Amino acid sequence: MSLAAHDLGVTIDRDPVLSGISLEVRSGEVLGLIGPNGAGKSTLLRALAGLVRADRGEVLAGGERVASLSARERAARTAFVAQDTGVAADITAMELVLMGRYAHRRRFSGLAEADARIAREALESVGMLALADRAVPSLSGGERQLVQIARALAQRADALLLDEPTSALDVHHQLRVFSILRERAAAGSAIAVVLHDLNDASRYCDRLAVVHDGSLFAGGAPHEVLVPETLAAVYRIEARVHDDERGYPHVHPLGYHDERTPLVGRPS
Ligand code: ADP
Ligand code: MG
Repeated sequence: MSLAAHDLGVTIDRDPVLSGISLEVRSGEVLGLIGPNGAGKSTLLRALAGLVRADRGEVLAGGERVASLSARERAARTAFVAQDTGVAADITAMELVLMGRYAHRRRFSGLAEADARIAREALESVGMLALADRAVPSLSGGERQLVQIARALAQRADALLLDEPTSALDVHHQLRVFSILRERAAAGSAIAVVLHDLNDASRYCDRLAVVHDGSLFAGGAPHEVLVPETLAAVYRIEARVHDDERGYPHVHPLGYHDERTPLVGRPS
């Protein structure tokens, strides 16, 4: 299943937040959404998940309007991990992950042994099985982020949408999460992930879409998108880009500038 936005427009409190967005997240690929703070990345991801109302255009999940799906049908097609998980409910990590099984539960029936097994596997894959019985509010920020990722994995939806999923993770767990995303894509999932780290975006994404001022500024393979001109226009930085030892473009930021300040680099 692929997810496709067609001429999407979203307005919040009369402010246009997204306009004219058309993009596709295809089965088998990891699409990276990058762009500055406030550009509209989270809003776009939420719109792809059917969680914000578009006032223009539409999002199709496997050809059907995501906005008109029931909560259960939507959960079978899209799993979403929010950027800010906010105040955590007082349930255990395992109970939170089991919530991801809701879409698969038959009406009037409880969770089956298979659901518990899938939830355990998801916790294990992110390295959190040992904390299964811990209360979610007692977890560290990074541990909570991993449990939320496990919940989305346990959901086994066709598309996986993750908003800065590695922002609170140590380097071991970052690598672990990216390796899971690549595995899921190889198994046919459609994956969209918001990232700030451009070198992670380069290494782990098949394609990148640059969100800037609520529109798509550029899109394509990492080596097409991660070029000094685009980085200067979008992030107001000067950067050098070279291929790393495995052939992925590697971004070295040299300094930033804005309307008033000329290039500011590392203090010398
Ligand atoms: P990003 O994830 O790229 O940092 P967001 O999608 O979160 O950006 O936000 C894009 C813009 O929309 C920002 O200017 C933000 O302040 C605004 N915005 C997002 N959600 C809301 C909301 N619920 N109410 C008011 N403004 C919002
Ligand atoms: Mg965001």
